[in-house]
Amino acid sequence: MINIVLFGPPGAGKGTQAKMLSEKYGFNHISTGDVIRGEIQRGTSRGLQVKEIMERGELAPDELVLGIIEEYIKSHSDCAGNIFDGFPRTSNQAKEFDVILERNRQTIDVMLALEVPDEELVKRLKLRAEVSGRPDDADENVINNRIEVYKKQTAVVADYYEAQSKYIPVKGTGTIEEVFASLCKAIDSIIARKA
Ligand code: ADP
Repeated sequence: MINIVLFGPPGAGKGTQAKMLSEKYGFNHISTGDVIRGEIQRGTSRGLQVKEIMERGELAPDELVLGIIEEYIKSHSDCAGNIFDGFPRTSNQAKEFDVILERNRQTIDVMLALEVPDEELVKRLKLRAEVSGRPDDADENVINNRIEVYKKQTAVVADYYEAQSKYIPVKGTGTIEEVFASLCKAIDSIIARKA
């Protein structure tokens, strides 16, 4: 079993690549953003708690996201691998994630970090707004806020994995297929190392 944190700023292409990687390797994929959007749509108490936070481009409370992750880990303990997309997003989430994983006798193998310049992110998110219907994509102020939040609260999460020698940066520009090929190369090397 291989556990991967797919990391990068909003608009880096995590969702697109996670889907392709899951298909190729038979991994499960969890996007905390997708889970939260689902809860908002269904009008659950979790959803109601975070709707406005999400629409402002801020982060949901750690406890809420950690609850989602713990439920996921418990129900996906027996599989080829997992891709965590959009999680962990704060240092505290990263530390608590390790506690949860340990409790379930698991560990993170690698963080694959997609690197994309800011101007490209804004361009992609504005374009995505036309098809995603996401309120947090529709407004340029919210897009900029999400990038700011990423820099202030999330970027440091990479240091946490780098300190454990689990950090691999991947060029997130170029075609979707080029980025996919780079990610596959990194994953294949991890699989070979574990074999
Ligand atoms: P993107 O990466 O494109 O910004 P996501 O779908 O990953 O989009 O996340 C959208 C929103 O969901 C975030 O701006 C935040 O409000 C909330 N969210 C998702 N994952 C987390 C997390 N791990 N911690 C806190 N909030 C989160």
